[in-house]
Parts: sequence; C-alpha cells; structure tokens
Amino acid sequence: MRCTAVINQKGGVGKTTTTVSLGAALALRGKRVLLLDLDPQANLTLHLDRRPDLEAKTMTNLMVDGAPLREMIVPCSAEGLSVVPADTSLSGVEQVLANRIGRETILREAFEDCQGELPFDHVLIDCPPALGVLSANALVTVDKIVIPMQAEYFSLQGMAKLMEVMELVRRRLNPGLEICMILPCMVNKRANLANEVIDELQRHFGDVLARNFIRANIKLAEAPSFGRTIFEHAPESNGALDYAAVADEFLKRHAGEKLPPADEPAPALEQTESEPPAAPPPSAEAGESPEMAEEGIA
Ligand code: ATP
Ligand code: MG
Repeated sequence: MRCTAVINQKGGVGKTTTTVSLGAALALRGKRVLLLDLDPQANLTLHLDRRPDLEAKTMTNLMVDGAPLREMIVPCSAEGLSVVPADTSLSGVEQVLANRIGRETILREAFEDCQGELPFDHVLIDCPPALGVLSANALVTVDKIVIPMQAEYFSLQGMAKLMEVMELVRRRLNPGLEICMILPCMVNKRANLANEVIDELQRHFGDVLARNFIRANIKLAEAPSFGRTIFEHAPESNGALDYAAVADEFLKRHAGEKLPPADEPAPALEQTESEPPAAPPPSAEAGESPEMAEEGIA
C-alpha cells in the first residue's frame, strides 16, 4: 500500500481537487484507493457527498480518541474509491493535541494498527492549508507527497517553507519521505506569467516538476456541487483528460519508472474543448491562506 499526501500550505491551489480527481483516475485504472480527509474544512468529504452521520466516527475521533481507522472507511459512488470523512470538529484538534507527546505520529500509528488489513493499493491524504499538527501527521505517515501549486509569483515563496518543514520531518521522523511531483494546477496557457513561473520551477526543481499539468477547467470547479468526481461529471473534459495523464505519471513515479526528459516541451496546453477558459475561482485569491501554525512539527 502506497501512501501519498497532497500538500501545500497555500489555500485554494487545487489540493482537494487533485486528491479526488487523482484518486478517481487511479480507481478507474483498477487500483483500490482510500482518500483521507485531513482538512477541517471537510471539502473532500463534501465533494464526494459523504458527510458523516451525527453518530458516525470521523478523522477527529481517530486523531483525538484513537478510534480505529478501519471503522470509519466509507465507500464512494465511484467504484474502487473509499473515503475517511472529516467534519469541522477537526479544527479543534490542533489545540486539543497541543501538549500531547507523540502527537505527530498518531495517524502513522493508526495505519500500523491495521497493517495488512486494509484492502487498498493507494492512500491519498488531503491536507489543510496550514503546516500544523494535521499536516505533520500526514508527512510522517506517507512515502511521498504531491504538491499542487498555481503558476504565480507568490507560489514560489511558499515552497521554500514547505521544503524546510519536509526536511525537518525527514530528518527526525520519516527518513523515506520524498516528493512524488510538483503539479501546476489551474494553468492558463495564455498567461505569460504562468509560463515564466513554470520555467522557473523547472530550473529550480528539475525532475520533480510534473510532466503533465492541470489546465484551468470549469468542469473541475463544477464537479463538487454535484457530489461527483470529474470522471462521473464530465469524462470528456480537459479536467478529466489532464488528471488521467497525471495518474499515469503518478503510477510511473511510484514504480520508479523512467520519464521522458524534463526539458522536453510541456504537453500541449491549448484548450481542446469548445468552452471558454475557467475564471479563477474565488477561493484561489491570494492572501486567503490561513496563517501557518508551525508548532507541533518538531
Ligand atoms: P484549500 O486550501 O482551501 O483546501 P485547495 O488547495 O484544496 O483549497 P481546491 O479546493 O481543490 O483547492 O480548489 C480551489 C477552487 O478551485 C475550488 O473551487 C475548485 O473547484 C477550483 N479548481 C480546482 N482546480 C481547478 C482547475 N483546474 N480549474 C478550475 N477550477 C479549479
Ligand atoms: Mg482543500
């Protein structure tokens, strides 16, 4: 079982969309996929229309009371896809765990407790837009991380902080942690800045920059309101095509397969559909990311 966190402390960059869409694409390729909602906003849970019942256990019970992971796994409408839902009570977890020793390893221990019992090939964890205890738990649990980002100037600044935290976790708690890929999302080919930032990322990160990008696509923004994945909502859309290509690349990277050279021209990003490019979504505005809570990482 491979565990991957989808992480970036910047808000609205495409983490939840990537977790759901990549997970759904992997499920379509016959993989058994578990999605974990580790964000108190519970956007992943809402996207998949899997709001927990009042009595049902959620991520909060796992993090605070040590409730067993296997008890909270819920199947989704898409075949091969399951989810561990969250609700807004997860926002209290940072505070409740503030003084608890070993708080960064709770999630890893939950997985260790049901080792061999979970029938999944891939686990994808949707992280909150903050580098606090919840994100630390994700970083300690996984083998690899996917970093969705928007191709804009300020994105590069946040990356340095994320790399620093990742390095710290690698040194102290999870030596095998690696970047799977940095994935530019909501890319608008027509914006020169996007191309410049991607060139800059290429120079800076080289091979870990994804060979495939996710174009801005209105169908991806619509899918959550229908409680469906992009493959159920609009299987012919650019959004579905892009995430399908990213899923293939993701599997190659997990398998350690060789990819085409990084300096080959990026895949064609022209709109292939007859729809206009998506307007930037409201939550993607700069300055929305919650402050980073750094305590709890060390
Ligand atoms: P947060 O930090 O708040 O958890 P996030 O990083 O999880 O945000 P998403 O929720 O995935 O980001 O995306 C932010 C918004 O942008 C959502 O409304 C989503 O539907 C939309 N969106 C995501 N990817 C695309 C895309 N490629 N094209 C158009 N809209 C997109
Ligand atoms: Mg999100």
